[in-house]
Amino acid sequence: MGEENNKEFQNENNRYNENGGRNENNKQNDNKKSNDKLLIVLTVIAIILVIIAIASVFLMQNKKEQDDNTLAYTDLIKEISNGNVEKVEMTVGSTTVKVKIKEQEEKTSIVPNTEAFVNLIQDKVAEGNEIELIQKPRSVWVQIPTIILNLLPTLIMIALFVMIFKLQGLGEKGKVYEETERKTKVTFKDVAGLEEEKAEMIEIVDFLKKPEKYTKMGAKIPRGVLLYGKPGTGKTLIAKAIAGEANVPFISMSGSEFIEMFAGLGASRVRKLFERARKLAPCIVFIDEIDAIGSRRASNSGAETENNQTLNQLLVEMDGFSSEETIIVLAATNRPEMLDKALLRPGRFDRQITIPAPDLKGRLEILKIHGADKKLSDDVNLESIAEDTAGFTGAELANILNEAAIVATKNGHEEIENDDIEEAVKKVTVGLEKKERVISEKDKKLTAYHEAGHAVVSRYLPTQSNVKEVSIIPRGVAGGYTMYKSDEDKYYISKTEMKEKLIALLGGRAAEKLVLDDISTGASNDIEVATQIARDMVTKYGMSDKLGPIDFQGKEPYEMQMFGEDIGDKIGLEVKALIDEAYENAQKLLIAHRDKLDLIAETLLRQEKVNEREFQEFFKDI
Ligand code: ADP
Ligand code: MG
Ligand code: ZN
Repeated sequence: MGEENNKEFQNENNRYNENGGRNENNKQNDNKKSNDKLLIVLTVIAIILVIIAIASVFLMQNKKEQDDNTLAYTDLIKEISNGNVEKVEMTVGSTTVKVKIKEQEEKTSIVPNTEAFVNLIQDKVAEGNEIELIQKPRSVWVQIPTIILNLLPTLIMIALFVMIFKLQGLGEKGKVYEETERKTKVTFKDVAGLEEEKAEMIEIVDFLKKPEKYTKMGAKIPRGVLLYGKPGTGKTLIAKAIAGEANVPFISMSGSEFIEMFAGLGASRVRKLFERARKLAPCIVFIDEIDAIGSRRASNSGAETENNQTLNQLLVEMDGFSSEETIIVLAATNRPEMLDKALLRPGRFDRQITIPAPDLKGRLEILKIHGADKKLSDDVNLESIAEDTAGFTGAELANILNEAAIVATKNGHEEIENDDIEEAVKKVTVGLEKKERVISEKDKKLTAYHEAGHAVVSRYLPTQSNVKEVSIIPRGVAGGYTMYKSDEDKYYISKTEMKEKLIALLGGRAAEKLVLDDISTGASNDIEVATQIARDMVTKYGMSDKLGPIDFQGKEPYEMQMFGEDIGDKIGLEVKALIDEAYENAQKLLIAHRDKLDLIAETLLRQEKVNEREFQEFFKDI
């Protein structure tokens, strides 16, 4: 295993791994979008700089030509006195005059005081000099180039600002139009499972369809609905389905889009979003990742202040809905604890709906929906896949079927077969199998005992699921894995079950210590998950006898102080006690069943994998 992380294939891992892949993809997209904008702005600036450069070269040339052909005023006066000047041409309002001197080209000269100059020439003419004086009316056309050149820098600046602001608005507008022009075709049929949640949403659909019915009765139409749930559970999907069912426009924006590039724009984007919504009402406004703008207004740093303005604008907009406007704002977040309480007040997001990961029935339905457009072989049993994927989100299930199609193609299958899907499940959860990787005998032995440790320990823990497969073939970052059969979806997990989970998680490390009298980095993921569970037991689920049923999570330091100065130490000790106890119990179990541990580890070293049936065989004597 060496530096590999050992990852277990378990629901618990899913539950404790809140960052779904999808979320990160979204972030990447957002980044890409703002990068694109930045690129456009930079290009525009570059183009403008080039124009300025070219313009100044031209100007310089003009100036040079002028230099050759100009006549200093004093020289001009001299020539006039000498009687060499034949013709003077001047434009009213301009100090530049054209002069023709005998036997010379026409030249220009700058006259400081045109009135005095005209008087001078008229005097000379009166004295008998033959000077032709032409006074042209002011010509706008002649002056335009000069005007433009003088104004050029200002014009460029204005153009630049206009462009930047246009660009800022462009993404948003483009998106709004795009989404609204073609009303979403998604309906509740496309949303599998979530029956109760859909039932609650039907009311909102009805509000949107027949607002008068409710207002006549004096009922206030709900303003905002918050959807809580981890990434990929179908929040966006269900929001779209509401719009689709009610046949109203769906205007969407992501919270992270509001806080981009230029300060102060977030608020104006919110204003524009709702301006558009008012025009389209009745409609749905969907704000994804609302935690990006709506997180607690605690500190006063720059970014925070910017967020405040955006959040305040959102609150102003929502408070300002008149009763005739049927605009329902749906917002989604996977971090409800981060939200500013002001968002949850009556008249704002006063309805909150939790979107859970699908249960067994829901998973089966999701698999059916996403399997419908794929070539599934008859031997594919979606029921058993649904059984094996407790804790998976809709997005992950959709992803599995997609991966299965890819795997099937790679394997040269005509249709997607059961083992393609099983392979896809493992690929999505533990990573790709890496058969070709060379592993030293020592590492193999370590992995074999580590995995056998998990498997044996969980076999003797009544609350833990049955082992489905143990393997020492590296997969993704994991050196090996122990896969459990998932049982029923549970809504509650008991303290006993959590304690036994800790024992099972530490079984790997305990086996390494017991057999090889050394420990490895391979247990790092186990330890991470175990620590998280133990911490939750103490601080979230009130399972510590010493500290009692108190929620210590997400508390500010001053709130913690009321439990005593040393509360942090006490929590730490309780977490440690849980882990220590579990580790001891794991060791005890392994010592008591050392024969099984050796047997399974040896089998793993010989055949790399032990399946469910083989595993049960080892225990048929008990
Ligand atoms: P969220 O917004 O909660 O992160 P999405 O609504 O974007 O999740 O879901 C991502 C994808 O996962 C959907 O486009 C859909 O393909 C699939 N999916 C998620 N939940 C369901 C569901 N209940 N029924 C059908 N498909 C689902
Ligand atoms: Mg979403
Ligand atoms: Zn492990």
